[in-house]
Amino acid sequence: MARYTEANCRRCRRDGEKLFLKGTRCNTPKCAMARRSFAPGQHGADRKVKLSNYGLQLREKQKTKWIYGVMEKQFRLYFQMATRIKGVTGRILLQFLERRLDNVIFRLGLAISRPQARQIVRHNFVYVNGHRVNIPSFLVDKGDLIEIKPKEKSAKKIKDNLEISKERAVPSWLEFKAAEMKATVARLPEKEDTDGTIQEQLIVELYSK
Ligand code: SF4
Repeated sequence: MARYTEANCRRCRRDGEKLFLKGTRCNTPKCAMARRSFAPGQHGADRKVKLSNYGLQLREKQKTKWIYGVMEKQFRLYFQMATRIKGVTGRILLQFLERRLDNVIFRLGLAISRPQARQIVRHNFVYVNGHRVNIPSFLVDKGDLIEIKPKEKSAKKIKDNLEISKERAVPSWLEFKAAEMKATVARLPEKEDTDGTIQEQLIVELYSK
């Protein structure tokens, strides 16, 4: 299976903004953006590149892929699916990304990062409507019931994650009963439910060329 191998912090530094790819570390002074907020590489500190329109669109697409941990092929597939649905394509694209099961586990605070959420899904701890689902890209739908049933060894870790993630509010499209480790998809997510750092229109412009 294809996966990104570049160091996460390099992506933030190249992008010039914090993408929060490493969980709790991102909010500490150890964050690479706090220590070296310039592009990586030997001449990164001197590099002052004014991006073209195309460059901006490309950067936005790459950033979004990194945030959600999605490879190019799947990302393009989401875009194609979004174009077939009535509505604003960019917003529907964001909706697909938010509906991914690994993102849902992250949004619920059961994981401190999306990579960790992906691991929780892959380890067979997640059930949707009573069926075990171990596919991180599984798309949840309105009315779905999501349950977490970790093995004893992992239960403490997940509880610790919940404690750490307390400051991150669970978005209102998910109804979460932390004590029971159950959540219901109350409605489909909107752009306002995301972190608001993605300019999805730039991605639409890029793919529409
Ligand atoms: Fe980005 Fe900082 Fe997190 Fe590294 S620690 S992934 S630089 S936000």
